Amino acid sequence: METVVSGIRSTGHLHLGNYFGAIKNFVKMQHESNCYFFIADWHSLTTHPHPDDLHNNVKKVLSEYLACGIDPDVATIYVQSDIPEIAELYLLMNMNAYVGELERTTSFKDKIRKHPDNINAGLLSYPVLMAVDILIQKANKVPVGKDQDQNLEMARKFAKRFNNIYDVNLFPIPEAYGFKGEMVKIPGLDGSGKMGKSEGNGIYLFDEPKEIQKKVMRAVTDSGPTQMNQKMPESINNLFTLLDAVSTPDTVEYFKEKYNSCEIRYGDLKKQLAEDIINFTTPIRKRIIEINSNDEFLRRTVKIGAEKARENASKTLKEARKIIGFKSF
Ligand code: AMP
Repeated sequence: METVVSGIRSTGHLHLGNYFGAIKNFVKMQHESNCYFFIADWHSLTTHPHPDDLHNNVKKVLSEYLACGIDPDVATIYVQSDIPEIAELYLLMNMNAYVGELERTTSFKDKIRKHPDNINAGLLSYPVLMAVDILIQKANKVPVGKDQDQNLEMARKFAKRFNNIYDVNLFPIPEAYGFKGEMVKIPGLDGSGKMGKSEGNGIYLFDEPKEIQKKVMRAVTDSGPTQMNQKMPESINNLFTLLDAVSTPDTVEYFKEKYNSCEIRYGDLKKQLAEDIINFTTPIRKRIIEINSNDEFLRRTVKIGAEKARENASKTLKEARKIIGFKSF
C-alpha cells in the first residue's frame, strides 16, 4: 500500500474551498492508502505567532479536521512538533540544500516581497522542512494543489541528492497523488475565481448560520439573463458551482432551468444556497465544538498519532544517521 503524507497549515478556520478541494478527498484517501496527516506548527513559526495562539491554533485545526471525518483510527494524525526526529533530519538535510536554490523558490520570493521586514532563515529553508516531513515517512505520494508543485519538486530533488551522494536508496522519490475525478475549485462569492482565506471571501465551516446567510445574500450577481440558454457570467456560474457542491442534483437542475428560461430570481437562488450550505455545515460545526471541548479525546488522538509517526520516523532517521557516518562509541 502506498504511503501518503499531507501537511496541514496550523492557522485559520477551514472554509468550503478547503473542504471540497482537499479534505473531502482526504477522508476517502485515508481508506485507500497509508495516510499521515500532520499539523505543521513548526512551519508556522516563520510568521512569529503569539505564544498564546500557538497551541490554540493547533487545537482548532485538529478539531476541524477530525470533525470533517479524518479518522485517527484509520489515518495517522499528528502534530509536527511532537516528532523530534523531524527536527534532526531537517538539520542533516539542510547540509545538502544550497542557498541559491532555496532563494530561487517562488514561495520564498513571494514571502520576501510581502514581508520584507521578516526574511528569516526558517523561511529560506522552509522547503527543506517540508521535504523532511515527507521523506521521514518514506512517502510515495503527496496530495498537492497547483501552488505546491514546486515544494514537491524540491522534496524530490533533496531525496535524489541524498540517495546519490551516499549511493543508497533510502528515500523513495515522492510523486503527486492524483485524485480520481476532477479536482473542484470552489469560487468566492465576490465574483472572483477562488475562495480563500487571504482573499477574505471564505465561507467557513465554523460560521454561524446567520453569518452564512449574510455572506450568501451579499454575493455578486448581474441583472439576470435576457436570452434563453444564455451563457452564464462568472459570478452566476460561481453560485452554481457552490450549489453543485452542497445541494441535491434536483435543486441544481431546477435553478438551471429557471436560468435558461430567463425566469430565475437570484434572491430565491441565494436563499436556497444559504439554506443548503447551512444544512451542510451545521453538523460539522456541532462536531467541531464537541471535539474542541473534549481535551481527553484530543490528547489521546495526538498521543497515538505521535507514537505511530515516531515509530516510522525514528527508523528513517536511524538509517540516515548510519549512512552519513554517525556511530556510537
Ligand atoms: P490553504 O490553507 O488555503 O493553502 O488550502 C489548503 C488546501 O485546500 C489547498 O492546497 C487546496 O487543496 C484546498 N483549497 C483551498 N482553497 C480552495 C478552493 N477555493 N477550491 C478548492 N480547493 C481549495
